[in-house]
Amino acid sequence: MRLRTRKAANRWHAAALNKCGQCGSAVVSHRACPSCGYYKGRQVLTIGAA
Ligand SMILES: [Zn+2]
Repeated sequence: MRLRTRKAANRWHAAALNKCGQCGSAVVSHRACPSCGYYKGRQVLTIGAA
């Protein structure tokens, strides 16, 4: 049963933290910034406009 061990190796690992290019706060990589809503140079979340 080698398949089982291979599955375990491919498990989700801790998300790397990036620095937001817009506001400079810590942001999980491949996620929009929770404080300013920017991701890859453009705003993808609307913050505070609920
Ligand atoms: Zn930000």
